[in-house]
Amino acid sequence: MTSPEDGDAGRDRGLELAWSQALTAAGIRSDVRGRAGDSEPLPHRLAGVSRVCPDSAPAAEQMGAALAALLIEADATAPAVVRHAVLLVGRLPMEESLTARVQAALAAGHAVAVQERLLAQQEAIHRAAITARDRAEEALRESEARFRGLFGQAPVGIGIGDTDGRILEVNEELQRMFGYSLAEFRDRRVEDFMHEDDAAQIWQDYAALVAGELDEFRTEKRYRHKDGHIVWTNLSVSLVRGAGDRPIFQVAVMEDVTEQHRLQERLQHEATHDSLTGLPNRALFLHRLDSALTHPRPEARVAVLFLDLDGFKFVNDSRGHLVGDRVLTAVAGRLAEAADKHGAFLARLAGDEFVVLVTPPADRLDQVAKDLVTALDAPVELDDLQAVRVQASVGVVELAVGDTTAGELLRAADLALHAAKAEGRGRVVLHDPSRTARQLTSFTIAMDLPGVVERGELALAYQPLVRLRDGGLHGVEALLRWNHPQLGELSPDLFVRMAEESSAIIPIGRWVLRRACTDLVAGYWPTVNINASVRQLYSPTFITDVRQALEREGLRPDQLRIEITESVIMQEGDAGPIRALGALADLGVRIVMDDFGTGYSNLAALRRVPLHELKLAGTFIKGTDPERGPDPVDLTILTTLVELAHTLGLVVTAEGVETAEQDARVRAIGCDVAQGWFYDRPIRLPD
Ligand code: C2E
Ligand code: MG
Ligand code: MG
Repeated sequence: MTSPEDGDAGRDRGLELAWSQALTAAGIRSDVRGRAGDSEPLPHRLAGVSRVCPDSAPAAEQMGAALAALLIEADATAPAVVRHAVLLVGRLPMEESLTARVQAALAAGHAVAVQERLLAQQEAIHRAAITARDRAEEALRESEARFRGLFGQAPVGIGIGDTDGRILEVNEELQRMFGYSLAEFRDRRVEDFMHEDDAAQIWQDYAALVAGELDEFRTEKRYRHKDGHIVWTNLSVSLVRGAGDRPIFQVAVMEDVTEQHRLQERLQHEATHDSLTGLPNRALFLHRLDSALTHPRPEARVAVLFLDLDGFKFVNDSRGHLVGDRVLTAVAGRLAEAADKHGAFLARLAGDEFVVLVTPPADRLDQVAKDLVTALDAPVELDDLQAVRVQASVGVVELAVGDTTAGELLRAADLALHAAKAEGRGRVVLHDPSRTARQLTSFTIAMDLPGVVERGELALAYQPLVRLRDGGLHGVEALLRWNHPQLGELSPDLFVRMAEESSAIIPIGRWVLRRACTDLVAGYWPTVNINASVRQLYSPTFITDVRQALEREGLRPDQLRIEITESVIMQEGDAGPIRALGALADLGVRIVMDDFGTGYSNLAALRRVPLHELKLAGTFIKGTDPERGPDPVDLTILTTLVELAHTLGLVVTAEGVETAEQDARVRAIGCDVAQGWFYDRPIRLPD
């Protein structure tokens, strides 16, 4: 065996190069190293083993085995490696039989090693597979347990069904939410839980989901609990797919949001309803009106009835707001009943204003209005308190939806209401476009009323009260006039009622009182009559105002007469106004009952009021037929009435005497004083 020291360096490098080429030819990178991280590259190590040729069979086999081991260790296991290694060994300078042994040992060693490695790898794979299977089973068990835990104790309702809609599983929360047991659920299908008010979209989404076209959808949906009440849920439905993406299950998860929903509904209700009466409010009414006006057919008709309680402010002021509120609530209930009967929509706009929407208008709209008005006929009973009578005026407008807007419609209804108010209380007036201009006047009046005293637009006209006995002047009546800058002179009939409904009558009344006293001082007449509204009698300062006005002008109290109307007696159960009159009478001021005979009071009722004089209403004198006057029976009654008044110590004045016949008549029935155009028209003092 030649010693390594004998080989020269050039030969070694040649051998290394040869191994390198052989490996490259077998598709192995020549710089590959052994797996143990050897510092030397494989060709160098192969050259190291093969540089000393063996001189015996065992040495040859040893060399072959060593070469195989090196190759295997470097993962050079491909069959091509063995072929090229065997070829290279064949070129080494050694005895042919030994070459064959080296080659055989190399090939065998390589094959065995490859086999061993394969077996080892298979074993490892097998072990890994077993471990993986064990782990997967465990993971499955864990996830199943986790799922059961989640499913069973979830605070949300969970239901699982197949894609045919059969219910397979429901958790406890869902059973609680719906009131059905698991068995009862399983007897049902998903579609059985449809609600008649569900949005169509929900069931479209559902169909798409079970058909596999949609993986998930969320919505808010109501269900009916077994006992009938509504359960609101936040619902999320998702699709579970199996092999080949085939839809197999649907999973519904729902959160019970009934409470939130109730709260939301309550807030919604509060925003759209009046808290006192529970009726829909203005906002909801306008919304309904807008929808009514978007009717697809422009010729479709819509009607609005605008209803306002007559003199309701007076109820509030005289009986207090608590009573006022109770009356409004009762009124709302009655109106709602009347509106319901006609399928109409009633809302409270503000204070004592109500509005009714009729769509499509009933063929007898006047019947709707009549029913609303008569609903208020009976007095409102207030258990412990005196009952309150209310009545309402109604403005009605009916138009085609194509011809109007919400604003126009409401304005027209409002105008009609004003016309109704102007005609007197408890009236129903249908909107008439030609009347608009005239009604605009009453709008102007209402708008301009506040501040009328401060602007100095008021004036008084005086009409003589003639003593029938001798034609002397009993006194004068001060009659209010408003010099309106645009509308000219306005008579009190046009604005006093409006002033009474607002508090404007108080400063106006005070102005009349002072002005009448000032004018009296001029000495043209001995006494003055002023008209006072019942509203003024409720004013805590009225008595003081009267006393001060008299004192300021140095007048005797009996130079002033205060005319009040029968409505004083109608303030049932409220002694306030009568007490005020008592205080005035005590002061020495004379009290006159005006327009007697237009109300419903009788002479006996008059005894409750401290009275000095009585004015018989003009209509009383004229009778029902103005041409012929009262018939003999009426005249007898009138004569008796005057006699009775005299018995009560009252001075009797006849009003509205326009003709000589009427003058003769009032004398015949025994009146003391007369007033009317027959004697003189009301006149203004020069400024
Ligand atoms: P009244 O107190 O009954 O006043 C009489 C009304 O009859 C006056 O109308 C007067 O102009 C009118 N008149 C007088 N003679 C005749 C006649 O021969 N024939 C006819 N047809 N009418 C006649 P006026 O001035 O328009 O007043 C209307 C009502 O307004 C008054 O009725 C009174 O209730 C009220 N009023 C007048 N001034 C005041 C006031 O200062 N304060 C208050 N609160 N009301 C007033
Ligand atoms: Mg009068
Ligand atoms: Mg009168």
